[in-house]
Amino acid sequence: MMARLEESVVDGSRAPGKASPKDLPSVDRLLKDPVVGLAVAEHGHSCVTAQVRALVDELRGRAIAGDLAAAEITTEALRAAVQTRICGRLAPRMRSVLNLTGTVIHTNLGRALLADSALQHLLTMMAGPNNLEYDLATGGRGDRDSIVEELLTTLTGAEAATVVNNNAAAVLLTIAALARDREVIVSRGELVEIGGAFRMPDVMASAGAHMVEVGTTNRTHLHDYERAITDRTALLMKVHTSNYAVQGFTSSVGEAQLSALAHARGLPVATDLGSGALVDLAAWGLPREPMPQEMLAAGCDVVTFSGDKLLGGPQAGLIVGSKAAIGKIRKFPMKRALRMSKLPLAALEATLMLYLRPERVAQDLPTLRLLTRPQADIRRVAEALQPAVAAVVAPRFSVTVEDMQGQIGSGSLPVERLPSAGLALAPVNRKGVGRSLDELAAALRRLPLPVIGRISDDRLLLDLRCLERPGDLLGQLSILGDSLA
Ligand SMILES: *Cc1c(COP(=O)(O)O)cnc(C)c1O
Repeated sequence: MMARLEESVVDGSRAPGKASPKDLPSVDRLLKDPVVGLAVAEHGHSCVTAQVRALVDELRGRAIAGDLAAAEITTEALRAAVQTRICGRLAPRMRSVLNLTGTVIHTNLGRALLADSALQHLLTMMAGPNNLEYDLATGGRGDRDSIVEELLTTLTGAEAATVVNNNAAAVLLTIAALARDREVIVSRGELVEIGGAFRMPDVMASAGAHMVEVGTTNRTHLHDYERAITDRTALLMKVHTSNYAVQGFTSSVGEAQLSALAHARGLPVATDLGSGALVDLAAWGLPREPMPQEMLAAGCDVVTFSGDKLLGGPQAGLIVGSKAAIGKIRKFPMKRALRMSKLPLAALEATLMLYLRPERVAQDLPTLRLLTRPQADIRRVAEALQPAVAAVVAPRFSVTVEDMQGQIGSGSLPVERLPSAGLALAPVNRKGVGRSLDELAAALRRLPLPVIGRISDDRLLLDLRCLERPGDLLGQLSILGDSLA
């Protein structure tokens, strides 16, 4: 049911000008209106009453201020206002958007997109009971880790694996479980901040470990670690500097060397990979990202990485490594507080299964599919869309097809660029370029399916790498045209 605002201004035309507070209907009277009654039948009394009350309060405030037009309190206008408020209240705050930023794994836009099989599995598993912690063979209690442990050990060569809520949790838990009240040695070149509150020194402190920094920002040597080892040392830690690169006169100690040193002293090595790719991206001509399987082969005892970065799955923290280390991590009490929910767990299982078919994974997994999309294909889409976009933004903006430089995102390979293509929208009037672009960007964000581009060099760029269904953008154009008119 919709109480549509019709042309009629029956009551309004009778009383032009401003409305006074005494012209307002009471909450009760409005609730007795037959059209508002339909809303009550649909949504229930509490929801509608709350919105009617809020509306009447707002109108009264404006009437007192002399700021309420009589036309706003006609029966039709009030019905429409009630409906608009209910719709607004019941509209989800989490919305689908079109990511045309050129950054494939965009942290602010929800990171990796789930594969169809992961969505299906998630839906099926959530629709009813499942064997989350139930052993179907014995009829006894099961362990939720066992749902993905074998997949993870198969794919990475690890002896054991466990999963938690996200990679930040994986790092925190690993340090707490292996080094609480003791010392962790880490290179000064690897004290990363991942954004927000995740900074390596703070994580160490939260985990109750004492951080011992060695080396310098640009150079750390094996003997730096060696000299720092004492009987208080519990762990040697490597952190992949995922969102920045130290270039020039640099030196760091590889996992193999560090593991050899650590093991000779009876200590474990943990590596936080951040993104961590399960397949070699170089196979598709992409820049290489370190793989957990390489870190394990180099001797690391624990490797942590994210579920929703290059892996292309749900938010998750994956911890793979030796039986001894994973055993300690799994038994550490904090694990219970950081454990993964059944929702992402189902999606993670289905995502990992896609890696069992490596020749197909670049097609089946959206993240890899988008990352490996050839520039020429993207350019063709841009060329096909150019006339339609140009028509709706004219005459204020011109639209050209251009090669662009995208990024993988989420800190992966921060310096590398992905050759991409898209549309560049430039204000025709060179005066007030900044404001025109801000307005255009805002109009794009206000669309029913908000379009998120990026502003660069006095142009608004729509990188089309992540636009797999051009119709999604085409469908928004007439609305964009209206809002720019
Ligand atoms: C992204 C990242 C994290 C945090 O992972 P989340 O899954 O976002 O919690 C930790 N360490 C590194 C090196 C990262 O790149």
